[in-house]
Amino acid sequence: MNAMTTDILDHSIPEIAARCARGEVSAEEITRAALDRIQSRNPALGAFLTVQGDTALAAARAVDAQRTRGEPLGPLAGVPIGLKDALCSADAPATAGSLVLTRKAPRDGSPERDPERGYRPPYDATVVARLRAAGAILPGKCNMDEFAMGSSNENSAFFPARNPWDSERTPGGSSGGSAVAVAAGMTPGALGSDTGGSIRQPAALTGVVGVKPTYGRVSRYGLIAFASSLDQIGPFAADVRGAARLLEVIAGHDPRDATSLPVAVDAYEAACGRDVAGLRIGVPEEYFAEGIEPGVDAAVRRALDGLRGLGCEVRPVHLPHTRHAVAAYYIVATAEASSNLARFDGVRFGLREDASQGDLRGMYGKTRGAGFGPEVKRRIMLGTYVLSAGYYDAYYLRAQKVRTLIQRDFDAAFRKVDLIAAPVSPTTAFRLGDRTDDPLAMYLADVYTLPASLAGLPALSVPCGLAPAPDAPTASATRSVISSLIDSAIAKAKALPIGLQLIAPALAEARLFTAAHAWEQISPVRGARAPSS
Ligand code: GLN
Repeated sequence: MNAMTTDILDHSIPEIAARCARGEVSAEEITRAALDRIQSRNPALGAFLTVQGDTALAAARAVDAQRTRGEPLGPLAGVPIGLKDALCSADAPATAGSLVLTRKAPRDGSPERDPERGYRPPYDATVVARLRAAGAILPGKCNMDEFAMGSSNENSAFFPARNPWDSERTPGGSSGGSAVAVAAGMTPGALGSDTGGSIRQPAALTGVVGVKPTYGRVSRYGLIAFASSLDQIGPFAADVRGAARLLEVIAGHDPRDATSLPVAVDAYEAACGRDVAGLRIGVPEEYFAEGIEPGVDAAVRRALDGLRGLGCEVRPVHLPHTRHAVAAYYIVATAEASSNLARFDGVRFGLREDASQGDLRGMYGKTRGAGFGPEVKRRIMLGTYVLSAGYYDAYYLRAQKVRTLIQRDFDAAFRKVDLIAAPVSPTTAFRLGDRTDDPLAMYLADVYTLPASLAGLPALSVPCGLAPAPDAPTASATRSVISSLIDSAIAKAKALPIGLQLIAPALAEARLFTAAHAWEQISPVRGARAPSS
């Protein structure tokens, strides 16, 4: 297929659906364009673990037939959407980035680690069923950190996803593959899950929009669980309107998820384009702390000036318990993970290591020993420890109390402001390998995303700037060296995306979309695309 025909993917989700509905382009053509881009771009970027070309094309033809018959089309008709591999889809394997959810390699020289041998779910997650009903096409499953534990995608059991702005760098995690699919133009939208930042942080690091809805806003039925009191599914898209449309499709009550809220879904797309004059935006100084990259700080403050220029009232707020969020999160999340992951024991799903002498406990141990990667094992041990007799009060109970204090910080702030604005990540995309030996450094990638997660609040990341990598050669550092060489090194130093985080009170996603859309219209990086896409 030539470049002209894949260009359809560079339009926004509403535009693609509209062109498909008008018959200007068929769903099959759009799907072929996506499969073509995946084929050409995925080998270098590792966004997709598996591709379901045949079922995607069949679904596309069904949408086209619906249009030919004159039947009304859904809001995502013909739009390819990538799915994080933690979501169950009946026509695709699901690995959650883990070997424990893959069958063993046959002894015929097949690769040890092959996501095609993943667990085959017998049903669609609610979000997957809703996407299909809206006419979306699902071409593949996206790479992720194992069981969504990580901030760089390097904990994938298969291969890391790479950042299309600089393929030596991380796209963030854990929904890194979903972010890359969108940032590199392979699919115009994708779904991820966010437990402590896993949608917002990769969206920020790859320059796309990513939304973590209110806890309970989107059904988690069919999401392979990490930490059930925090997990929430949400959309990625190249622009705010596209993300709004996707969320509108997947949100809403589902009796199959007991934590799903029986509350009507607002018109998120209609909220894009509303006036922001008079909106009160709080800026927590705790989120501009030591360790923030100067380029990130400057870009976020420029965005605040931009919002002020649109008539928003921007004022300081305090969230004094912010500094305890990382500790509380890594207790609560690991405790829940240790319990959720107990089911992967070789009996019902995926991998089973042979038990010699019919020893059941031995089989559990061997399966879990071989199937889980080091970060997952670390978290199961941490989680088991903080829940164990004698330590429960000291750790788990205390962390839950801290969680309440963090929630109260937000309650108090939202009595004075309508939204909170802050950075998403203290840094731009770091190099692959830079933090893999230092779990604490990795955990600190989440300092600004964890508080909203612990409080269950909706939050999004919208691109707000680009900055040269802080570890790239600078003119002053290299002035003394032969200048022409240096100049070309500087020219090659890649610009990296920065995200603005907006946080709203529970269920006020519409307000997030209004503000993010208003900012997007005046953003200096509006429409900026990754160079390798
Ligand atoms: N990076 C965080 C963690 O490793 C958050 C992950 C997530 O949101 N799934 O737990």
